[in-house]
Order: sequence, then structure tokens, then C-alpha cells
Amino acid sequence: MLIIGVTGNSGSGKTSISKLLEKKLNVDIIDADKVVKEMSMPGAIYFKEIVKKFGKDILLENGELNKQKLAGIIFTNNEKREALNSLTFKYVVEEITKRAKLSKNEIVIIDAPLLIESGLNQICDIVISVLANEKTKIKRICTRDSIDEDTARKRINAQPKNDFYIENSNLVVINNDNCNLEKQVINIKEIIESQILKNKETVIIQKEDLKILQFKRLLDYKEYITHAFTLKPLDFGSNNTYTKKKEEIDNNYKLVCELLNLDSKNIIRPYQTHTNNVKEVNDEIGVFNESFINIDGLVTNERNRILSLTFADCTPLYLFDKNKKVIGNIHSGWQGTVKKIAKRGVKFMKETYNSNPKDIICVIGPTIRKCHFEVQKDVKDIFYNTFSYMEKINEIIEYNKKTKSYFIDTVEINKNLLIEEGILEKNIVDSKVCTFCNSDIFHSYRKEGEEAGRNTALISLI
Ligand SMILES: [Zn+2]
Repeated sequence: MLIIGVTGNSGSGKTSISKLLEKKLNVDIIDADKVVKEMSMPGAIYFKEIVKKFGKDILLENGELNKQKLAGIIFTNNEKREALNSLTFKYVVEEITKRAKLSKNEIVIIDAPLLIESGLNQICDIVISVLANEKTKIKRICTRDSIDEDTARKRINAQPKNDFYIENSNLVVINNDNCNLEKQVINIKEIIESQILKNKETVIIQKEDLKILQFKRLLDYKEYITHAFTLKPLDFGSNNTYTKKKEEIDNNYKLVCELLNLDSKNIIRPYQTHTNNVKEVNDEIGVFNESFINIDGLVTNERNRILSLTFADCTPLYLFDKNKKVIGNIHSGWQGTVKKIAKRGVKFMKETYNSNPKDIICVIGPTIRKCHFEVQKDVKDIFYNTFSYMEKINEIIEYNKKTKSYFIDTVEINKNLLIEEGILEKNIVDSKVCTFCNSDIFHSYRKEGEEAGRNTALISLI
């Protein structure tokens, strides 16, 4: 069974999304608010506990709970809110967990405003947070609950900020007023089916067709850096297709940058040609800047330089020196791996900025993995001749009798190369995502051939 938790601020539209998901995925849905309502009826233990805590003033004439009065109290008084929450968490979480486990359906959705705060997220395989901007939320709350703007704003201010949801979710859906709900839900369904959400190292941010992957380890440094790896359908084109698709690609850069609060005119994108050349970025920026021909690694210590490289199966390496505040973005395809560009990138940081490799965090993004990186003897020989010294070479390169070909683990090779340069193993984070296995959501050259689009990896100091 797959348990999906859906949460978010008041007015974010999470219930509309849950209801559409219920239809599209044919699942059981547990509405936490409804469970609370049932348990708040006179006579229930939860009801009795609330009256004990808040006094009889909280009751209507007919003896039921005065919800509006209760909401008014808890949205303005932190202490009382916590008292109510701890009661709710104790009784309601127990009940919801019981109901979820009893379901005979393959997928159960728990729609709960306090999914994360209550600890209900612990029983979920996937956590989806729905967010919206303040204007949208206020409009929705005022219409739904017939309250004035000021009261709605107070409610929103009492709730967690976006960062809290991003840190604690596998998928974040931005659902502003003008968003197409149907499209949002179709995209959620596709992402759920891809299995990528079970990955604990990453979070996907979705705003209709604009989808990016972020790495939790890099989000730990969100005051200094921002980053992304884009998903389909966004396409950033190859060296050859850029002129043909210029308008679309420039617009895609704009969309991603807007989402990250960056200015797309600060993009620097080189002509990648599978070299091991790494170059520092200063004032020269732009997409396909003439000073960046035959460059597959970018490094900078300047703020507002968006290092952008494109990928369709090749390995993206994000580098961040948390002490000297230096970033790097490396394109390590199979040729770049053989030419050891990972080492060149780290060396460049050491030589140019005096980086201590022990301070460098490296994230290995989505890439083709051993499951699908299949080669013939000629390429296998190149790898073997270069890396035969590696301890686990017999696991890194494996012969498959059935296919009469070789499968190579380039991620493991890149990890070893980084460690050779002094990066600590605990500071290397692998996204564990295979682009070929997940070609529904990522561009994959091996799967799609010449027609394949390109994902982009971005990182910038802010
Ligand atoms: Zn694969």
C-alpha cells in the first residue's frame, strides 16, 4: 500500500487537489478535518478533553463545539494553539493511522492541514505540500469562510512558511489563483507513478508544467545558494538545436529563474563538448557566451552568476564550498568521466579560491546509471584502462552474458575521483535517480536518441 499525505496552508487549494487525485488515481481518501469533526461531537473523548482544556465558553447553545470561536482563539494565541494541537495529535492521529491501515485500496491519501506538525507524515510514503501566494490564499479563505481580509491574513501568518513545507515534502505544488488544476493533477499523477518521490534526498517543486528537482542537502545552505535540476517538458536544447528553439529555451530559463527568484539575464551557459575544461565565471555571462566554447565545468565565487549546464543522461556534479562560498557545476558525461573532469573541478576550486576539499559538498544529480549504461568492448576497454586501479573495478564494470555487453557504473567512478581529490565521503550526496529509468520525466539521450531534449542543472550564489 502507498500512503500519500497531502498538506499545505489554509487557502492553498490542497483539498481541491486531493479530491481530483481521488478521482484520477482511484484511491481512498481520509479527510483529517472530517475525522476531527466526527471526533468533536459531544460525547467523544476528544470533545471532552477540549472542553476540559478550554472551558464551557467554547460551546454553542446546543452543546456542540463553537468552531469559529475556537479558530479565533488558536489563530491568535500560540500557547492555546499548541494545547489544542497536542490534543488533536494524540487522538486524531491514532484514528487516522488506524483507518489508513484498514483500507483495502492500493493507494490511500490523507488530506491533513497539520500532516507534518502532527507527525502523520511519518506513516506516509510520499508527502505532497500545496502552496499558494498570499494574495491567492487570502482570496480563497475570505470566499470560503466569509471572513474579512485581516482575519484571513492573521490565519495565514500563524501557519508555517513555504520553507517548512519544502524541507518536509517530496513534492511541492504551487497552486496560485490562475493555475490549471487539471494540469496540476495530471502532472502529480505522472510524478507519483515515476517512483521518484520515494527518494528521500530530493524534493520536486511543480507549478503546472514547470517542474524542478532540488536536493535537500543543498537546501541546508539556502541562505547562500539556490539550485535546480529541471524536469520535462521543459527543454533547454543542445548546442545544435538552440538557434532553432531560441525563443522557447530563453522563456524556459526565465520561468525557472522566476521560480528561484533569480534574474535570467545572469545565466551563463557554455558550449559543452565533453571536454575536461573548467573555467571561472566573472563578468562574462549569457547563453552560449563566445568565451565559453569547449567548456564543461563552471566555477565562481561571485554572487548572481547562474552556472547552467545541460544534460540528457550525462552526470551533473554540483559543488559547494560552504566555507569559502564557492560553487561549481560540472558536466561529466562518459567522456568527461574518462578525462576525470570531476577532479579538474575540485582542483580548480583548490587552486583558484584556496578551497579546502573537506569543506566541499558535492551532489550527484539525475544521470544514466549502471542499470542502463550499456557499452561494447571498445568503450569498456577505455574505462578499464583508465580506472583498473580502482578497488571495486570488477563491480564498476560488469559483463552481461545475456546481452554480451558491459554495464558501467560511472557514478561510482565519479565518487572515487572526488574522494581522490580529498572530498569526504559523507559530503558526497547521490540523488540515486536514473534518467533512463525515469525517461517519462527526464530527457534521456540513450532512450530517445537524437531527438532527446536537455534538462538543465543550475546553481547560483545569492
Ligand atoms: Zn536505469
